[in-house]
Amino acid sequence: MASNSINLDGPAFRHIPAGVKAKLRPIAIEKIQAIYDWVENECIPREPVMEAQVQARKWAMPPLMKELREKAKAKGLFNLFLPNTFKESPAGLTNLEYGCCAELLGRTYWAAQTVNCHAPDTGNMELLAKYANDEQKKRWLQPLLDGTTLSGYSMTEPSVATSDATNVSIRITKKGDTYVINGRKLYANCLWNKDLSFYILMGLSDPENPDQWARHSMLIVPADTPGITQVRNLTVLGYDWAPEGHGEYVYENVVVPKENLILGEGRAFEIAQGRLGGGRIHHCMRLLGQAERALELAVMRAKDPRFKPRGKLIGDFDSNIERIAQMRLNLDAMRFIVYNAAETIDLVGPKAGRQAIAQCKILVPVGVEKLVSECMQMFGGQGVTQHTPLPTLWAYARWARLADGPDSSHRHQVGRDELKKAPAITERHQTYNRRAKEFAEQYGEKILMMPEDSL
Ligand SMILES: Cc1cc2nc3c(=O)[nH]c(=O)nc-3n(C[C@H](O)[C@H](O)[C@H](O)COP(=O)(O)OP(=O)(O)OC[C@H]3O[C@@H](n4cnc5c(N)ncnc54)[C@H](O)[C@@H]3O)c2cc1C
Repeated sequence: MASNSINLDGPAFRHIPAGVKAKLRPIAIEKIQAIYDWVENECIPREPVMEAQVQARKWAMPPLMKELREKAKAKGLFNLFLPNTFKESPAGLTNLEYGCCAELLGRTYWAAQTVNCHAPDTGNMELLAKYANDEQKKRWLQPLLDGTTLSGYSMTEPSVATSDATNVSIRITKKGDTYVINGRKLYANCLWNKDLSFYILMGLSDPENPDQWARHSMLIVPADTPGITQVRNLTVLGYDWAPEGHGEYVYENVVVPKENLILGEGRAFEIAQGRLGGGRIHHCMRLLGQAERALELAVMRAKDPRFKPRGKLIGDFDSNIERIAQMRLNLDAMRFIVYNAAETIDLVGPKAGRQAIAQCKILVPVGVEKLVSECMQMFGGQGVTQHTPLPTLWAYARWARLADGPDSSHRHQVGRDELKKAPAITERHQTYNRRAKEFAEQYGEKILMMPEDSL
């Protein structure tokens, strides 16, 4: 499809702010349109069939998902999340450009997987592309890029505060040409899913190291390694999230070859930092699409002639007109926050852009959670049942406040960074006061000053 034949005022681009639209390159315009067509025509109308297949098989990839993945790959829609900074990037999109695609993918929960842009494989692919050696890339990265396998990321533990990953305590012990793992893990995809082939696991390899940032290592652990027991699949907000799921594990003398060590012993933090590039805000990008979907449902219900409390359409009550307006304004404001974070990563990288990332991770999940909740309210009793996708949309927004690190720790970081400005701010205000005194003397005015010691 030639990008100059695509209508930039069409529905695929409807919500993209003019300033962002102006920056989109022809390849991005093509991919955004193609993703829009894909989600609208191939995914959303198949939602009930996908749900029926998941319920029938639970812990295996549904045949429909396999079929759609093959089709999407053939259409050149795979792996668009990999930004132009990777040589493996298929289309060389920027994070900002991918953000426009990801929002559209968010319109149905599983659409991202049809185009191989789903967590945690996206983060793992970025990690392996960045830090794995050639042999590891061939064996573990390539099948993920090809979409022939799935992976998990295993950091969280049940008995420590993992949001501070220096607490990670599962033991990795070197033994000859192998590493032996003992301990417990929480989350990371469910082992019952036979399409899952490996975990990237973070563990404690050198507890005595005086440098707390050099005590941990990352290993590739094949899912069929003896000694891994899945205690249960965790339900999240009551859902089992099959077929990926979220497991709880015991590792007992799990042996992996030394070739499965990523980058080097003690380098887990270096890797973990690098893993979290654009991937950190993919959930927020998709949540915008989820929120648009929820708002559409509320608008539809508000104008549905079958529902007339007190003889009026739900959307004819002033309170609901205002509610709809507020949701639209909040959603558009959240979009600016997401796009700003994506563009900041493109321009200065995730480290220098951490404030923009934090802003996004703090404000968007909680904002979408509230928005979906309001939409449920307008929908009445059916809004919290399986009659609408609203409960799953709400659950996604709620758990996104925790996944990849809780919003509280981002808030903590933003607050600390703000407080670090105190000395410079104080100095500036002392200068104001000194100058105010000088001006007062110059104009012969008697002024009320701050106490002398604040000068
Ligand atoms: C749906 C879902 C999927 C997940 N997938 C994965 C996965 O694939 N792999 C994986 O390893 N993990 C995964 N997780 C786990 C998630 O990353 C952790 O739950 C999260 O990082 C918090 O760690 P914790 O549970 O150990 O909580 P803790 O570290 O114990 O924190 C508990 C609470 O303490 C408070 N807190 C923490 N730090 C601060 C702070 N600095 N300031 C103020 N308050 C603070 C917060 O309220 C926080 O929620 C997933 C979680 C969810 C919900």
